[in-house]
Amino acid sequence: MTGGSEMTDDRCLHELGQLSDVLAELRCRSLFLVADPIAYVVSGAAGQLAPILSRYRVTSFQDFDPNPKLAQLVAAVELFREQPRDVVLAVGGGTAIDLAKLIAWTGPQDASPRELVLGRRQPVQPAITSIAVPTTAGTGSEATQFAVLYVDGNKHSIDSPDLLPKYCVLDASLTAALPARITAHTGLDALCQGIESLWSVRATERSIGYAAEAITLAWRSLADAVNRPDGPTRAAMLRASHCAGRAINLTRTTAPHAISYAFTSDYGIPHGHAVALTIGPMLVHNAGVTAGDNQDPRGVEQVHGRIARILDLLGCEDASAGCARIGDLLDEIGCERRPSRLGVVGREAIAKIAGKVNAQRLGNNPRRLTHEQMVTMLESFG
Ligand SMILES: [Zn+2]
Repeated sequence: MTGGSEMTDDRCLHELGQLSDVLAELRCRSLFLVADPIAYVVSGAAGQLAPILSRYRVTSFQDFDPNPKLAQLVAAVELFREQPRDVVLAVGGGTAIDLAKLIAWTGPQDASPRELVLGRRQPVQPAITSIAVPTTAGTGSEATQFAVLYVDGNKHSIDSPDLLPKYCVLDASLTAALPARITAHTGLDALCQGIESLWSVRATERSIGYAAEAITLAWRSLADAVNRPDGPTRAAMLRASHCAGRAINLTRTTAPHAISYAFTSDYGIPHGHAVALTIGPMLVHNAGVTAGDNQDPRGVEQVHGRIARILDLLGCEDASAGCARIGDLLDEIGCERRPSRLGVVGREAIAKIAGKVNAQRLGNNPRRLTHEQMVTMLESFG
């Protein structure tokens, strides 16, 4: 079973070598390893884990894509049910971790993964203990109770306290070999998740603390982590990503994430980059919130206060300056900021993107965003 509804510092290890103590404490005898095959080797995790894993019976599952599909979960769960293991260990980016969380949750049940993922049947058995070892600094999946899975071509977000890993290993040395492009995309996800969590209508004092830490660290370190990476900037981004995960675990995401999914599914724009396309313009939109279109039940003044906090963290005087600075950051880390240059050309294409946005997620945004406003916004920055 997971050890609570929130990831806490005492469940975060900082060196992969510490895993041996945790496995001993858990009285673990066997492991189900879910590893991204490239990241597993390139990050150095394979080499470091070899002497530890040699003491356990290990089943390894490495056959999955960046956007995990139900068929892959089904194959993994079949393997798990043939060879039940004490602990599920994930090594990789958000995909490996999400998949591992789903295996730990669905593996011990009688129901099929499809029935469980679609909510047609409820889990009866407690989830297997899971441990997440991120090799990218971005999604914060090691600190959330969500997992993404594609079912019959549609993106599904599963949200259950049983998905939260019991432990995570935040070892920045594992991110040292990340290519600049992936550092940029995943780092943008961390920054945007921090900003969205802070303005979310579900923000609490606790979530704001995590979000503020994520924004501060990512804002200060992302350009260096991409262009001049060293140990401290890598560590700052890994912590930023983790704090952003803790923040959205409490608040969920808002409009930029809601809009981003069609950019990713229809144009192949990587997740963090896709989210960052609208974060600046949405900062301007949200800063203009009035009593008439405010969605936060605590009142419009609360929202203005949180936007002011974001601007303060970004060191910007007003929302247009914030939007411009975010655009500069995209340039600096080599990410195109105009959707038209990424293949999203013409009003029809833009209207299609806006039409795919999940209305429920927009409800989490502090200011209402109509379809027309969305189209106008997307057109305005070309
Ligand atoms: Zn994200």
